[in-house]
Amino acid sequence: MEQAVPSSAPASPLEQVRARIAAAARIAGRKAEDVTLVAVSKTKPAEAILGLIAQGQTVFGENRVQEAQAKWPEIRAAHAEVQLHLVGQLQSNKAEDAVALFDCIHSVDRASLVTALGKAQEKLGRKVPCFVQVNIGAEEQKGGCAVSEVPVLLALAREAGLQIVGLMCVPPASIEAAPFFALLDKLADDNGLSGLSMGMSDDFETAVQLGASHVRIGSALFGER
Ligand SMILES: *Cc1c(COP(=O)(O)O)cnc(C)c1O
Repeated sequence: MEQAVPSSAPASPLEQVRARIAAAARIAGRKAEDVTLVAVSKTKPAEAILGLIAQGQTVFGENRVQEAQAKWPEIRAAHAEVQLHLVGQLQSNKAEDAVALFDCIHSVDRASLVTALGKAQEKLGRKVPCFVQVNIGAEEQKGGCAVSEVPVLLALAREAGLQIVGLMCVPPASIEAAPFFALLDKLADDNGLSGLSMGMSDDFETAVQLGASHVRIGSALFGER
């Protein structure tokens, strides 16, 4: 019989999250490589980020433009392989800063922002893949466009020259997320999109099983904020 090899060091949070993504993918008959782990480093210092980079993590997420501008230029200068995603709300007057700094924007959710991003892309001569964020639980005060607005916003985005790669959601807190993930998957399918940015520290395995292409994970990697 094979003996379990005793490992000297306990698995790091990154190793644990990767293993959980792989296990969830396996259950769903998916490949772990088809799921991009976005390590959400908001509020976390550069040392914590560099620790993950040293372990081979390459994709990171921030939720505020200003915080990312302060933290990331130095890190990226030293680590050209790193990609930075914007996962939080974006104000139209920060569109240009966002296009300049980020490699992907997960939070396109209204016509005015689509227009601003289109103009920013033209001005800077740089295209940034985007997700349309959907307010999947129809919650007041939550970012994202209404489910019924998705087709119109997608059409506007294409007209403005945005490259929309998929849909993103943050489901309502403290109720089962699976039905919302399934709905986002169906919406993406209906609109011919393959990207699904869904799943956070508390529900990413469910999201992977239901087709997530990108999981956005903060506290399970970096500890509580
Ligand atoms: C903070 C944040 C995350 C990560 O949340 P955790 O629960 O810490 O994993 C994911 N997505 C968005 C939009 C966030 O703001």
